[in-house]
Amino acid sequence: MITFNVEKIKSLKCRECGREYPPSKIYMCENCFGPLEVTYDLDSIEINKKSYENRAKTVWRYHELLPVNDEKKIVDIGAGFTILHKCKRLAESLGLKNVYVKDDTVNPTNSFKDRPATVAVSKALEFGFKAVGCASTGNLAASTAAHSAKAGLPCYVFIPANIEVNKILQAASYGAKIIAVKGNYDEANRLATQALDEYNWGLVNINIRPYYVEGSKTLAFETCEQLGWEAPENVIIPMGSGALLCAVWRGLRQFLHLDLIDELKTRVFGAQPFGCSPIVHAFKSDSDDITPIDEFDTIAKSLAIGDPGDGIYALKVMKESNGGAECATDKEILDGISLLAKKEGIFAEPAGGVTIAVLKKLIESGEISRDEEVVCYVTGSGFKSSETIQQIVQKPVEIEPFIEDLKRIINGV
Ligand SMILES: *Cc1c(COP(=O)(O)O)cnc(C)c1O
Ligand SMILES: [Zn+2]
Repeated sequence: MITFNVEKIKSLKCRECGREYPPSKIYMCENCFGPLEVTYDLDSIEINKKSYENRAKTVWRYHELLPVNDEKKIVDIGAGFTILHKCKRLAESLGLKNVYVKDDTVNPTNSFKDRPATVAVSKALEFGFKAVGCASTGNLAASTAAHSAKAGLPCYVFIPANIEVNKILQAASYGAKIIAVKGNYDEANRLATQALDEYNWGLVNINIRPYYVEGSKTLAFETCEQLGWEAPENVIIPMGSGALLCAVWRGLRQFLHLDLIDELKTRVFGAQPFGCSPIVHAFKSDSDDITPIDEFDTIAKSLAIGDPGDGIYALKVMKESNGGAECATDKEILDGISLLAKKEGIFAEPAGGVTIAVLKKLIESGEISRDEEVVCYVTGSGFKSSETIQQIVQKPVEIEPFIEDLKRIINGV
């Protein structure tokens, strides 16, 4: 049974100036307007590998490192503990020894966003918010909507009007109020932020963001646990805002601090679509700043963020870990989706195609060598983006229900 230590959060710490605040509803530094992050008193956490033997197979197995104090407030629809596939056929086709795919398409709402959403909606309940919501490129809308349904809270999601129809359908099915903004993600996000002046909502990736991002660390925890309590040699992570990439790194560092892994030599690689790649662009031009872009076009809609909030921190992680950054064109993304589906039976949305396409490019350029181990994060399901994926699948041949017609097709006449 879970027993929580209510004192586990030490502070909210400014990622820019380092000022610390008691854990509360604030999400921005009063001194420098920098973003805040949760710190823990790691030395007081008593945990070892054995502690995990009989725990729930959800993100909440790592509750000591998640920022919710009141276990009664946990909103759990089963996010996390997804399969880490050893991908033999994919590895062979790319000339590699050791490739794994962390398949987050199998989360309750079919994307990794269920990890941060379960933490954020639980925290919103703990804080007593009467409504929740988010700004989303698509997947977070469904995740927040599903968790708010379970929590019994109204939900308001701000999305760019042009995202995939299935993502909107999914969020609407859970009963969320969909606010489709005529504009891109950055504009939807800005409007959602302004809404906070008018409404006392818990917007999971805005005013609950310091807590929200903590949920994504569980991808790192699970990967280590599934590799036999070892950190992976290389990870490839798709980036929109860059928050997921930073969270994975924080998770690995926390596991090292707690001696749950012995060493940390992981190289962290960030992947973006060519049509919207401000972080990759900054990395390649050796800049410490990100130049936001206003106009962008990519089939990887979940990654289409022109002004990435965690971009500069993602750059630091990629440098500090001796990793790298690469992007993939729409054509390469579609090939990546197809390769993963046909070699491993995993059906990914374009963000997952970005990861696989970037894996291929990093191998071909020699950035990652063929005998190294690579873990690829596949973060959303192909069902999310059916209209895009239609482009690469053959239409079924229709026949009359007669054996002669069947034979004609099978023999290819
Ligand atoms: C949100 C998202 C990401 C990455 O998002 P960050 O903003 O970088 O944290 C990756 N893949 C999918 C499918 C997503 O929905
Ligand atoms: Zn500050």
